[in-house]
Amino acid sequence: MLDAPTSQLSLWSEEDPGESWVVRESRRARRLAVRVFQTGRVEVIVPPRTSRGAIERFLDRHRAWIERKRAEARRDAGAGEPFPPRTVELPACGESWRVHLAGGAGRLRIASAPGLLSVHGDCRNARAMRQALRGWLICHARGVLGAALAACSGELGFDYERLIVRRQRTRWGSCSVRGTISLNCCLLFQRREVMRYLLIHELAHTRHMNHSRRFWQCVAEHCPGHRALDRELLDGWRHVPAWVFGDP
Ligand SMILES: [Zn+2]
Repeated sequence: MLDAPTSQLSLWSEEDPGESWVVRESRRARRLAVRVFQTGRVEVIVPPRTSRGAIERFLDRHRAWIERKRAEARRDAGAGEPFPPRTVELPACGESWRVHLAGGAGRLRIASAPGLLSVHGDCRNARAMRQALRGWLICHARGVLGAALAACSGELGFDYERLIVRRQRTRWGSCSVRGTISLNCCLLFQRREVMRYLLIHELAHTRHMNHSRRFWQCVAEHCPGHRALDRELLDGWRHVPAWVFGDP
């Protein structure tokens, strides 16, 4: 589907950062269930053909529980992770970046050399530091994902118009009718095979604008292990460091 979340079974999602949740239809589900992830993302798993009304009633009944879990998740997020991070690990491109706090005066900024991120300026300003790291991540993801997508489309014979890279809590990627592929910078925290699967998934949408049988045949042709990789990606949020989405 055009702007549907990546999962084969997703119904809809909301992008509001304060209220990020996704409903996922699962053929194996017997009843409605809800999970709250560390990022604060809420996933509702529903049996096939569950009505929107039934989902809304289910959510209303469990709203207090969900809100409590989200508050806990926000509090726990990154509890074990030092901030600023000592390193930034990017399995998708096999890179490890050491974070060096150079300090000094002036606006916080990041200078990068291969494998090294030097943070200049007031390093005690956690908010500015997070923003600087996020800026670097998006910028770096544009290069990495741009090259990977171009290589993948060339190798497999797909065409796309352009690439947009964003930081999103609920979506890994999407493809528009005009052939614009949008990818989440957090793909860099996934395994290389998982990232490649998502690239193939979105490229396959340039031919099939839906999740039809033919679409999945097209994906399977180029990525035989796609089912397991899709499942791995659904859980991929847990590989994303807390600073990517944590408080401002
Ligand atoms: Zn899709």
